[in-house]
Amino acid sequence: MLSKLRPHLYLPSVQSVDPRLLRRRGIRGVVLDLDNTLAGWKSPRPSREVKAWVQRLHGHGIDAVILSNNGHGRVQDFAGWLGVPFIPHARKPWARGFREAMAVLGTVPKSTAVIGDQVFTDILGGNRAGLFTILVTPLSRQEFIGTKAVRRLEDVVLHHFERTGLRAPSSAG
Ligand SMILES: [Mg+2]
Repeated sequence: MLSKLRPHLYLPSVQSVDPRLLRRRGIRGVVLDLDNTLAGWKSPRPSREVKAWVQRLHGHGIDAVILSNNGHGRVQDFAGWLGVPFIPHARKPWARGFREAMAVLGTVPKSTAVIGDQVFTDILGGNRAGLFTILVTPLSRQEFIGTKAVRRLEDVVLHHFERTGLRAPSSAG
């Protein structure tokens, strides 16, 4: 169980995920979490940096789809601004959403990465589905830390992984 919570990479933000690195690993499609990964808390539109990064992905021949546990309206609006397909009400970590996302991308697990900020939804679900998993620091960490029990539990898990070789964003650059 613990190994399924361990991301393959841990980076400070989506923008720090290098499309060339993904290509070298044979990745052709990326499953993107929305809240706290692409978007700050309740922000309706992507930042210029996030838009530019998605364009870089596309430029390297990598497709993207948003897979979110959030509701239809919020996800549709954001995906529209970003110009990518979307799947709302995903119920991560359950496998169905990841299978749907790969159907949209036209990829198989080996050629698919997931990028998200939550160990218990994005990373657990992605690992169970056989994807390459990338954890990023939540955009609105300040608003959640100390208030959400699940974040404290994540900290325990991540601390364990860092002691056993996972590089934290500060040292990974
Ligand atoms: Mg999230």
